[in-house]
Amino acid sequence: MAQDKNTAAQEAARKALEAAQAKKAKKKVEHTYTQVGQQSASKEELLAATRKNALPYRIGAIILWILAIVCEVLAILVFVHKIEFSFTVENPGYTIAWIVLLVLDLAFVIIGSQLWKKANHLDPASAKNKLRFWLHNNLGVIIAIIAFAPFIIIVLLDKNASKQSKIIAVVVAVVALAIGGLTSVDWNPISQEEMLENANIDTVYWTASGTVFHAYDDCSHLNNTLELMTGTATTAIENGKTRLCKTCEARAAREAEESLVSVVSDKMDQETAPSESEGGSQE
Ligand SMILES: [Zn+2]
Repeated sequence: MAQDKNTAAQEAARKALEAAQAKKAKKKVEHTYTQVGQQSASKEELLAATRKNALPYRIGAIILWILAIVCEVLAILVFVHKIEFSFTVENPGYTIAWIVLLVLDLAFVIIGSQLWKKANHLDPASAKNKLRFWLHNNLGVIIAIIAFAPFIIIVLLDKNASKQSKIIAVVVAVVALAIGGLTSVDWNPISQEEMLENANIDTVYWTASGTVFHAYDDCSHLNNTLELMTGTATTAIENGKTRLCKTCEARAAREAEESLVSVVSDKMDQETAPSESEGGSQE
């Protein structure tokens, strides 16, 4: 009996230990790695690859923005009665027609701008000229102005429309312009210089769906991903991950600082020790 109790207690202790170990093991993620090969050898080849990655998004953005401006022109023509669909003869149908066109206009501006921002993250512009850099990243804001301001001006100048429909039209278009403009701003742009700065890291990690690459495979942002791609930073950039993760960047800076401190203290140790022949160390 006593021995039974003893083994039962041992069994319970063993189980508790196993559970604790399993819990500990669970915290560390077991990644599987896929090695990805590098294609571009030079900076020019890398930039050509990023341009190619961004091209479909740029074309998509431009097509959607053209559609947005077409919708605006149609909205203007409906508002000034240059176009009259059968249901626009009556006032309610007329209002619905230009409102629907302005909503489509806004949808095309917003989606086009998201594609444009995606293209700029795949293929960042140079930040050497600050104004050009801003205009390039926020082209969607300018498009939003082009897609709504002419409508507002024409409504205000229209002598035939009623005061009420002019007020509604201006309010709707100003709200649409504000929404379209704000959603088109790139609040966190990346420059070509920033991208190239981190392009010389030998081994980085990234996920299929992510937009950044990581310098450490135990980065907290990778805890939920089992399958990691690995390769050089240049390869990550070729695969559309143009930015180094902020967490990894901060950690690398911290580690560099710590190693610098140890190098400096090593050097101070050496300096206090009797100096060796300097000519000899160069050979
Ligand atoms: Zn990271």
